[in-house]
This record gives sequence, C-alpha cells and structure tokens, in this order.
Amino acid sequence: EGRITVGELADKMGVSASDVISKLIGLGVMATINQAVDTDIAKMLAEEQGFEVEVKVDTLEEKLVETEEDKEEDLRPRPPVVTILGHVDHGKTSLLDAIREANVTSQEAGGITQHIGAYQAEYNDKKIVFLDTPGHEAFTAMRARGAQVTDIAIVVVAADDGVMPQTVEAINHVKAADVPIIIAVNKIDKPNANPDRVKQQLAEYELIPEDWGGDTVFVDVSALKHTGLDTLMEMILLVSEMAELKANPDKPALGTVVEAKLDKGRGPVATVLIQDGTIEVGDSIICGTIYGKVRAMVDDRGNRIEKAGPATPVEILGLNDVAEAGDMLQVVTDDKMARQISEKRSDKRREVELKKSAKVSLDDLFSQI
Ligand code: GDP
Ligand code: MG
Repeated sequence: EGRITVGELADKMGVSASDVISKLIGLGVMATINQAVDTDIAKMLAEEQGFEVEVKVDTLEEKLVETEEDKEEDLRPRPPVVTILGHVDHGKTSLLDAIREANVTSQEAGGITQHIGAYQAEYNDKKIVFLDTPGHEAFTAMRARGAQVTDIAIVVVAADDGVMPQTVEAINHVKAADVPIIIAVNKIDKPNANPDRVKQQLAEYELIPEDWGGDTVFVDVSALKHTGLDTLMEMILLVSEMAELKANPDKPALGTVVEAKLDKGRGPVATVLIQDGTIEVGDSIICGTIYGKVRAMVDDRGNRIEKAGPATPVEILGLNDVAEAGDMLQVVTDDKMARQISEKRSDKRREVELKKSAKVSLDDLFSQI
C-alpha cells in the first residue's frame, strides 16, 4: 500500500495524531491512527500546515506478466505495421482501399474481403500490415494507453489542398511517437495538383525530401488512378528494412487490440494485432481485465486459422467480455493464471475509481461551504 496512515502523516508534519484526526472529522472523514488517509486529503491537510507535497501518482498500471528476454538467435525478421494519417478528405480511406485492391490476392472465389480493422498486403513476396483504422485519434488513443503498434506512419497530403491543420497534428503525433514518416502526396491526377508546394510547406516542419538534400521519403500517388502505389510499397519495405524489425515467433503471444465488438452470434470478438510470439487456438489469454480461452481465430481474408505469428491481424473469439482498443493481449500458462491476473487488475481498477470518487466528494464538501 502506497498510502500514508494518520499516524505517519502526523509524524511527518510534527503534529499529534489527534490533531490530524480532528481535522479529518472536520472534513467529514472518520479515521483512526492506523488507518490510511486518501492521498488527496492528506495532501490538503499537509498544505494547510504549510508543507509542500509531492504526490507519487499511483496510476492504473497494467503491467504485463513478466516474460523472459529474447535471445538474439531466437529473433526473426517480421513485417512492418503501417498506419495512414492525414487531414480529412485527403484520401486516407481511398489509399487503404487502393493498396488492398492492388496487393491483397484474394484466393477465395468471388473475392470476399473481410473488414477486421487491419490487413496484410503482399508486395514482391514481402508482407506489409496496414492498420485499417486511419486518423490520428485511433493512433493517439492507442499510444495514450501505452500501445505502440505502428512501425511506419504514412502521412497523406492532398496535392491540390496542401498542408492543413490535421496534417500538422498528424506530423506532431508521429514525431512524438518517434516513428519513421513517409509522405504520400495524393491526388496528383488532379489538374490543380501542386506537389512542389506540399514539399515547400512540409520543409517548415523539418520534413525535407531526399531530392532537396533531406532524408524524408516523399511519394507522389493517386489513390483514384492507382498511380505510384508500387513506389509507395517499395519505400515502405525500404524504410522497414532499415528499422530491422524483429520478433520471436517461438513464445507465447503478445498483441494489441485494434478493434472489438459484441457479435450477435459469436459473442465478444476482438481484432488483435499479434506483435510477438505465436497464439494458438486453445491458448489462455488475458486482455486488460478481460480473459478467456481462444475458441477460434479468423484471419483478414475470413479464413479460420489455428495459429498466428508476429505481425498478423486476427479476430479472436473466446474472451469473456468486449475488449478495449489499445489493450494488450497476452497468452498466459493456463486458465487459472488468466483469471487471477484479471481479478488483480479489476481490484486495482476499483481502487483507483474509489480514490477518484473520494476526491469528488471532497470537492462537493467544499462547494457547500
Ligand atoms: P479520407 O477522409 O482521408 O479518408 O479521404 P477519402 O479517401 O474519403 O477521400 C476523400 C475524397 O477524395 C473522396 O471523394 C475520394 O474519391 C477523393 N480522392 C481520394 N483520393 C483521390 C485521388 O487520388 N484523386 C482524386 N482525384 N480524388 C481522390
Ligand atoms: Mg476516411
């Protein structure tokens, strides 16, 4: 327990415990000498006495189950995970669709492609994973929850419109995440397209194209006419090679929830990007405070699969509730372990919630005075 007791607080401030107790009673809080004091209340009391208080915030830290560090010889190259960002209407969705059409070979008759929030494309026999949830909200939301799923960010800028507010926001987010950027200058088919202006504008943000002596990759594309897509894929693979992305397929899987929903027939379904290790049907899993056993898995083409390795997006069935995007999913040794971790995390979450409500009631108290 990180919280301070009444007695400890009194000691620290050099006053008697009964002084602290009576102050607490004045605030409507009943406590004995050995009881813990809510952090916010303790802080307030101490500040009243002229102390400066440094509160070590006890956050809702959902630590991963400890895993052994990988040995260098167990690491294998893995495909890159790409996110597309940019201003509204600059062509994020169109570009994702164009890449999917051009680079996802559908073996199924009729070519029904399923939408699971991420897909694996193939170019020159190399795989590239695209997160199908464009927009920096998703990117930022995941990062805020500690999930770093993107290896490469493509920032789309419409050549007729140029750099816009959300373009700048996207760039800032990507820079904060320290992820390599590729600029896709889109809509170059338009008569009023001006790719040079985009380059000039982006130079202000230290994104200098290679042909101007900088090191940022710019690719002219048209999502509509499918031009420049091959070059874009080549550049993604080039940037990916430089990053030397690796993972260990021979260990229990670790992934991040990209999307989750409650399906009428199938129950809770989570689309998870497996980032490390391998997940198999029958594995016990924990995901935030949710847990379960993998009942079935479906890949981005709609095929039932038995196992999935690093950089594979999969739909997972068998969790006991709807997961949250950004939550980490981890394979654990057995069901009992999964349940125990879930309980621990739920307790922790409740504790944090209680603290929050204690603070609220204190504020209410003051507003009444
Ligand atoms: P998003 O908001 O960034 O996802 O943008 P969309 O993909 O929805 O595209 C916005 C509009 O721009 C749509 O009407 C698209 O048809 C159009 N568009 C997208 N890419 C191109 C392109 O390369 N050329 C032209 N001419 N129009 C495009
Ligand atoms: Mg869109």
